[in-house]
Amino acid sequence: RTPNTQSLNLPDSIEIDSYGGVLVSSDMQTTAPGIYAAGDVVGRPFLASTGMAQAQAAANTIFLDASSVAGECKEGDAACVVDGAAQAGSSFDPASLASNPFAFPTGVWTTPEVATYGVTLEQAKSLELGEEIGEAVALYMECLRGRVFAPDGLLKLVYIKPAGRILGVHICGEAACELVHYGMQLVKSQQTVEDCRNSLYSAVTFHELYKLAADAAFDEAGARKRRAAAGKALAQRNREIRDEAQ
Ligand SMILES: Cc1cc2nc3c(=O)[nH]c(=O)nc-3n(C[C@H](O)[C@H](O)[C@H](O)COP(=O)(O)OP(=O)(O)OC[C@H]3O[C@@H](n4cnc5c(N)ncnc54)[C@H](O)[C@@H]3O)c2cc1C
Repeated sequence: RTPNTQSLNLPDSIEIDSYGGVLVSSDMQTTAPGIYAAGDVVGRPFLASTGMAQAQAAANTIFLDASSVAGECKEGDAACVVDGAAQAGSSFDPASLASNPFAFPTGVWTTPEVATYGVTLEQAKSLELGEEIGEAVALYMECLRGRVFAPDGLLKLVYIKPAGRILGVHICGEAACELVHYGMQLVKSQQTVEDCRNSLYSAVTFHELYKLAADAAFDEAGARKRRAAAGKALAQRNREIRDEAQ
């Protein structure tokens, strides 16, 4: 997809990039002072959610004192997120769709759904936070709601070892595009896997996957055994379903 700007009859003072998108600054101002752009017209990622956030950012700049909307990050805290952009954002590949993995959650409406927010293990390592990075996994088959209704899938937390901040959440499975928003709040509010482990989640919900993944961060060997058993049970279940269908 490309921005449809050709027919807009824009003045020369509004510059267009090589993909046809209106060039904007971080506060969505075009190269013509006082004129703002948001949405598909500025190019990637061409999403309704990001278009609305861009429009909101432009309105904040136009109508609010910038100091009243900005939060605070400690100097050098690469993974701190304020106003939808982490300080580390610019260090990621700007040509990538998710050039700043902290800017917005990504949802893919496939079967099963895929959703992600924050950094992967590799990206977290590249931030050079001076800490060891881990990833903790829970299978849908390990939680009761998953086992009964949607056993195929997993949720993964990327975190600072041994029990530190959660830096990313990656989900493949039922309702992933919904579940990712809770993970986004964990990352943005600098929650740890310990916070997650100590929280009480309603049974029988998919949110229990967060607690199971946090538990896995504390007992990697035990979690591996539980996943192996769950995986075996899932394979058996899928074999039975296949045999019944034949
Ligand atoms: C099939 C499909 C599925 C999608 N699914 C998702 C999804 O699941 N999640 C998601 O977040 N996004 C999704 N999107 C993307 C989302 O629809 C767009 O990113 C979003 O609508 C962009 O909003 P916009 O306001 O920038 O542009 P638009 O919604 O295109 O609005 C632009 C408006 O400007 C009007 N206009 C054009 N030229 C002029 C003119 N000269 N004068 C006055 N008015 C004009 C148009 O008629 C239109 O009403 C999907 C898009 C498609 C096509």
